[in-house]
Amino acid sequence: MHNAADGGLARIRVPGGTMTAPQFHAVFAASAALGDGQLELTSRANIQIRGLRLGAEAKLAERLREVGLLPSVTHELVRNIIASPLGAEQPLVNELDRELCSWPELAELPGRFLITVDSQGDVSGLGGDVGLAKVGPDWALLLAGEDTGVRVPENQTVTTVIAAAQEFLVERRRQGSVAWRMNELTEGPQRVLQRLGLPATRRRLMVRPAVPLPTGFATPRTLVVGAPLGRLDAAQCRELLRAAGSTVRLTPWRSVVLRGIEPSTVVGRDLITDPNSPWHGVTSCAGMPGCVKALADVRADAAAWLRSRPEPSAQRVHWSGCSRRCGRPQGSVVDVVATGEGYQVNEKLANDTAAAIAVARRDM
Ligand code: SF4
Repeated sequence: MHNAADGGLARIRVPGGTMTAPQFHAVFAASAALGDGQLELTSRANIQIRGLRLGAEAKLAERLREVGLLPSVTHELVRNIIASPLGAEQPLVNELDRELCSWPELAELPGRFLITVDSQGDVSGLGGDVGLAKVGPDWALLLAGEDTGVRVPENQTVTTVIAAAQEFLVERRRQGSVAWRMNELTEGPQRVLQRLGLPATRRRLMVRPAVPLPTGFATPRTLVVGAPLGRLDAAQCRELLRAAGSTVRLTPWRSVVLRGIEPSTVVGRDLITDPNSPWHGVTSCAGMPGCVKALADVRADAAAWLRSRPEPSAQRVHWSGCSRRCGRPQGSVVDVVATGEGYQVNEKLANDTAAAIAVARRDM
């Protein structure tokens, strides 16, 4: 937990994004009791609780531990694993998570270090430091988001990923570096690959950019539900639980996947289920009053813009309260940044923000 302008801020890591219904309930109940009552979904498929009162840290930790969401105090910051939200690799993610937490030295991994497990061609583009991407019966080993040419059989996936993370730390030490990410090391991927000593093929996968899952039914019984501007209130959480089966799966696009639901299920409470909803693909940072650096209440301004019914567009838009652009999705995104005197849209000060966004969306 760390302090923000609106109180304590806690990030709850959910490797692979899958939470049981009781875990999801425990998290929003904790936010209601100890924080501002909302859940923020993050671009790493985790959850943040804001507005935590003084002394809430221990109570929150106890609540999380009771439902299995805080398995390791020493390794909590490094449990960063994103998996394909429509895939079936949660057991593999769980095994990776357990193994990661069992090696004391891996607690030294930087909090930004990311592992991806991609069976659907959707999350490798997030640029994980170490990644697995399904290729036929095997998995491609990715380093810094690029295919190394190494192919890993199913039964060696966990040991290979753990070895790559260990070798990152060894190489970082050897270089006297404080790098947070694989590609911040000098020749990071090449050096780590040499250390692993694994044979590589010549054929490499082209890693596709990560594109958000559209909201709506992905299969007749799998529904992707978007959280407006990445936030859920208690009523929306209860609505998701009402519709969900035994699990809720978070995605890196601030939405949740509900499986095994009836095709006739209707989800209300302003949650996004229409793939053409203007709210789809629109994100924002915390802004005022949550962040001390914020120059505007970006959530309110983004919501007002969305309520003005902007022209539908698949082009994503990210609103930021300052030039740090926290939470900006990777790839092609219209940047709307508060300056204190209005907004810049893609680096240009806009007299009419809505009109400038419309032009930027058309031109990108
Ligand atoms: S982008 Fe700026 S205002 Fe927004 S959360 Fe980050 S630091 Fe705060």
